[in-house]
Amino acid sequence: MSMVSLVGAGPGDPELLTIRAFKLIQSANVIVYDRLVSKPIIDLCNPAAEMIYAGKAMANHTLQQESINELLADLALKHESVVRLKGGDPFIFGRGGEEIETLAEKKIPFQVVPGITAASGCAAFSGIPLTHRDHAQSCIFVTGHLRNGEVNLDWKDLVAPHRTVVVYMGLTGLEKICESLIRYGRSPETPAALIQQGTQSKQRVFTSTLEGLPTLVAQSEVSAPTLLIIGGVVSLKDKLEWFKPEA
Ligand code: SAH
Repeated sequence: MSMVSLVGAGPGDPELLTIRAFKLIQSANVIVYDRLVSKPIIDLCNPAAEMIYAGKAMANHTLQQESINELLADLALKHESVVRLKGGDPFIFGRGGEEIETLAEKKIPFQVVPGITAASGCAAFSGIPLTHRDHAQSCIFVTGHLRNGEVNLDWKDLVAPHRTVVVYMGLTGLEKICESLIRYGRSPETPAALIQQGTQSKQRVFTSTLEGLPTLVAQSEVSAPTLLIIGGVVSLKDKLEWFKPEA
């Protein structure tokens, strides 16, 4: 019986794969992977597997979402083990739900393998705990993706005190995001960090305040993927930083 596995690859460091993910990528017949899956993880995949790139650069959708859903269903008919490999966790801003909905409708067997999401990976590898008794009792994950040039978020919810805000896909909208948080009441002095290529050998971390971060980032030739973390917890980085990326 064929099986489609929707597998989270984590944030990039291959040692952060789960054992189940590792076993599956080593034995799959075909692997449909995303732009966010790091090169060292691709290198661990079964050399005999057919590799299909389904990455999505923002304006240039290599494969439209619907065709990915259909592709997985088609592949399942031809192969015993199909892996759909996605960056981070497939159920966190990964459209993993949509991809298996089609399989569920067609009664094709599937399983979901969680991965370390960018928030956990970037936080750990930059020494920024997402919650902390002195700084944050809650943490919220949002997408900063722009729609018609605007970031539509429930800003009132994001300015609650003692709350860490983690923004995925927030690089293009960075200035708008920081501005809006200040406008809705978060202090301009709130610590904020942007982590580029978290957990990977080229990780870079930019720390500033809500007010200062957009300028710092604009001057620093930052490239995606990046994750934005906002809140008092960011101030712990100086003390808790441990990871030494390649110089
Ligand atoms: N399913 C993924 C998220 C997909 S959305 C997960 O759970 O992590 C894509 C966004 O994730 C990127 O725009 C970026 O904000 C974030 N991201 C993923 N990997 C990252 C990394 N290694 N470093 C920084 N941000 C990352």
